[in-house]
Amino acid sequence: MNKLSIRLNAFEESATLAMAAKAREFKNRGIDVISLSLGEPDFKTPAHICEAAKKAIDDGKYFAYPPVAGYQDLREALAAKYQKENNVPYKAENIVVSNGAKQSIANAMLAILNPGDEVIIFSPYWVSYDALVRLAEAKPVLVKGGIENDFKVTASQVEEAITSKTRIIIFSSPCNPTGSVFLRSELEAIAQVVSKHENIVVIADEIYEHINFTGEHVSFASLPGMFERTITVNGFAKGFAMTGWRVGYIGAPKWIADGCNKMQGQLTSANCSIAQRAALAAITDDLAPTFAMVKEYEKRREIVYNLLKEIPGIKSNYPQGAFYFFPDVSFYYGKSDGERTIKNGDDFCMYMLEKAHVSLVPGGAFGEEKCIRLSYAASEKDLREALKRIKNALSLLN
Ligand code: GLU
Repeated sequence: MNKLSIRLNAFEESATLAMAAKAREFKNRGIDVISLSLGEPDFKTPAHICEAAKKAIDDGKYFAYPPVAGYQDLREALAAKYQKENNVPYKAENIVVSNGAKQSIANAMLAILNPGDEVIIFSPYWVSYDALVRLAEAKPVLVKGGIENDFKVTASQVEEAITSKTRIIIFSSPCNPTGSVFLRSELEAIAQVVSKHENIVVIADEIYEHINFTGEHVSFASLPGMFERTITVNGFAKGFAMTGWRVGYIGAPKWIADGCNKMQGQLTSANCSIAQRAALAAITDDLAPTFAMVKEYEKRREIVYNLLKEIPGIKSNYPQGAFYFFPDVSFYYGKSDGERTIKNGDDFCMYMLEKAHVSLVPGGAFGEEKCIRLSYAASEKDLREALKRIKNALSLLN
């Protein structure tokens, strides 16, 4: 009795969601916590998207099960977006809409991997990559990008890590948790390595596509020879402030899209009908609200970067996209406030939650013990206050 599956023990609880739950617990106790743990826009979903959802309810046509892979018009609109904005010739048959990008990735892992296969994960990585690989009974192979290279993995590192068992390579750009953005030349070099291995599929997680301050987003599938072996993951949560609507999607070669469709048909069926109508408005209407949010994020990046620089001992890269900082805080490991000693990132984050009332996520969950993740998808006022609190709390450590 009371025994859960071996499968469930193979991976950890999502650290991002666990930290968000802890922050919520503190808030429920009346403590004024500033939440910088969850990667969640503080903006509201733009009004025209909400209006589309309301209209869909009033139309009375969208109450039944949608097709598993998503409404045809939404898939066509997403394919058109890929053709126009990303230079990738996806058609509707290549698109599968899911309950968030997390499900898109889970579908892909479960549809492609066999037990014992290896998956190269660029590290630092988003928490769920590792867990989903383990869920599929495959083996995560972490390839690490150091802070000195803006946390980016190089093509030669990828080449070294590939074995006859490598089946998938997964990374995000712009990256969660580091904010790094791969340049075209860097992705081209990786594509060249991949093209030598016909068994390998690349999962390019491009959910932060819009939140990119470099001026160019490069879709991996647009590079020579990569269309046939790339799954492009995207979603509406980040660029359109639609986290709760749960709409993610992939573009992929038809055989993979069909596999994901079959998987999803048994797991969840289609994504919510009304959320899909909202997503259609988001992708076909004005992108001005998205660009306005991105401008705000860019402003906040400067603020946080400058405030972090003022804190002794903290090392940070200068993120080029997404809305995260991933500073190295290991200078503080081993230090104590007289009551407790900060041994690692978990202790650091608990100390910050309890002492400074700021929630962050320990870097270990993303593959780098020395770092912590800070989401700057929060108001300027909250960010300034949070950084002040963090600085004060750290000044108490010796
Ligand atoms: N992707 C977001 C994050 O990294 C949302 C939480 C999650 O699903 O992990 O914070």
